[in-house]
Amino acid sequence: MRILVTGGAGFIGSHLIDRLMLQGHEVVCLDNFYTGHKRNLLKWFNHPYFELIRHDITEPIRLEVDQIYHLACPASPVHYQFNPVKTIKTNVIGTLNMLGLAKRVKARFLLASTSEVYGDPEVHPQTEDYRGNVNTIGIRSCYDEGKRVAETLAFDYHRQNGVEIRVARIFNTYGPRMLENDGRVVSNFIVQALRGTPLTLYGDGSQTRSFCYVSDLVEGLIRLMNGEQKGPINLGNPDEYTILQLAQAIQQKINPSAEIRFEPLPQDDPRRRKPDITKANDWLGWQPTVPLQQGLDYTIDDFRARMIDPDAQYEG
Ligand code: NAD
Ligand code: UDP
Ligand code: UDP
Repeated sequence: MRILVTGGAGFIGSHLIDRLMLQGHEVVCLDNFYTGHKRNLLKWFNHPYFELIRHDITEPIRLEVDQIYHLACPASPVHYQFNPVKTIKTNVIGTLNMLGLAKRVKARFLLASTSEVYGDPEVHPQTEDYRGNVNTIGIRSCYDEGKRVAETLAFDYHRQNGVEIRVARIFNTYGPRMLENDGRVVSNFIVQALRGTPLTLYGDGSQTRSFCYVSDLVEGLIRLMNGEQKGPINLGNPDEYTILQLAQAIQQKINPSAEIRFEPLPQDDPRRRKPDITKANDWLGWQPTVPLQQGLDYTIDDFRARMIDPDAQYEG
């Protein structure tokens, strides 16, 4: 099959491309390199089945493909809030373009949506039928509402134009190749502990998240794309931790005497988050296999290697 991955030079996208290439597919990657990097794909550069196109998905493009994994969009609050209007354009105009492409070439289309569609959830753990609690005018809304519109577009292209869609609601995912300046919590704490600077804990650390290792997530995306159910479907690891517990786990692994510095909690920061993955289990036979302690070890090894050589390729 010829498969398009938008945002394929990013964190999740590059791991997905590794898997698709190893399965023998032809892969086309579209990326504008906002938060992605060519070094994530270096090993495929001379492969005859791989093609990398520098392209901003807010502009139309014509390609011939069988499947589209649509991941292009900055995922870290720091990066999606840097230019919020651009984030909305990427989610709305960019998703529209990719759905227009899917319609024209009759490609199956998978949207990388997010647990952020649930906002600051009043239902715990979050099931797919929960409609969410999102602030429409807050600093996170460019991303949250952008993804909600992207889901709506996907379902309307399905109903109106018969496009085959798959919608994944991805929960916090971490692993090798996250940027040093990504800004999300796992990479921040690891980089800070390795550099010997204080771990920046926002709020009192009692807010929770559930962290999924990237190889598990990629497995879920591929199963969803090739399964029968369009979703939306939660993909995430249901093991829930407070952010203070996460800080302490990373502190223990890297530097038990590392300082934890408490900083103000950003606006609209969700209090808790944990996926109900009953559907993923029933429909796709999927559940995460990498526990946090092990996933953190792999991620720390990768950051250590890149501190010595920025182009180091960690294959954990
Ligand atoms: P990332 O920032 O590493 O990757 C996003 C990629 O999209 C980057 O390579 C970036 O350069 C590219 N991109 C951004 N805007 C673009 C545009 N207009 N045109 C072309 N390319 C563009 O983020 P990630 O963690 O790999 O996330 C990938 C997808 O998964 C995103 O859609 C994100 O919303 C979703 N997601 C991720 C998580 C997570 O925890 N990592 C959670 C929920 C949802
Ligand atoms: N589009 C694209 N590549 C394609 C087909 C469509 O980028 O191969 C874009 C197209 O430019 C339009 C969007 O996708 O902006 C939606 O396309 P659709 O055909 O659904 O709507 P229309 O072009 O009729 O507005
Ligand atoms: N967080 C933190 N210190 C950091 C970065 C994030 O305490 O350096 C907190 C943040 O306030 C949130 C949680 O960690 O409560 C997860 O943040 P992240 O940006 O990774 O993801 P999201 O909030 O989108 O789930």
